[in-house]
Amino acid sequence: MKNLFNKKIAIVGGGPGGLTLARLLQIKGADVKVYERDANKDVRVQGATLDLHDDSGLEALRKAGLMDAFKENYRPNADRIRIVDSSANTL
Ligand SMILES: Cc1cc2nc3c(=O)[nH]c(=O)nc-3n(C[C@H](O)[C@H](O)[C@H](O)COP(=O)(O)OP(=O)(O)OC[C@H]3O[C@@H](n4cnc5c(N)ncnc54)[C@H](O)[C@@H]3O)c2cc1C
Repeated sequence: MKNLFNKKIAIVGGGPGGLTLARLLQIKGADVKVYERDANKDVRVQGATLDLHDDSGLEALRKAGLMDAFKENYRPNADRIRIVDSSANTL
């Protein structure tokens, strides 16, 4: 990626994609503004745990220098599930 000093960039959407891109552009010197529709993370259900892979999503976070922030906020083992029958016995 080229040096982006003096570039003003608007990103519409502050999801994981928009925020990671914003950080990557900031590292290159761009003046980035993220526009997010939601007032905060609690205004709607956020879905489940992200399925991030080492060579794609996690690689982007690593390049953006966001791994420490990620580790502070992620939910270890959140992808583990317990399957039970109608009496709550673990199957
Ligand atoms: C119910 C549900 C469950 C899911 N479960 C999983 C899962 O288990 N694992 C997984 O990997 N993925 C899951 N996903 C997919 C998940 O949403 C994406 O992986 C991830 O959120 C994509 O990130 P993103 O930044 O591209 O988009 P988003 O997270 O959708 O972010 C886009 C943002 O843009 C904002 N926006 C939209 N339009 C405008 C506008 N006009 N102006 C300003 N802001 C705007 C939105 O409010 C939103 O915050 C799920 C999705 C849903 C709906």
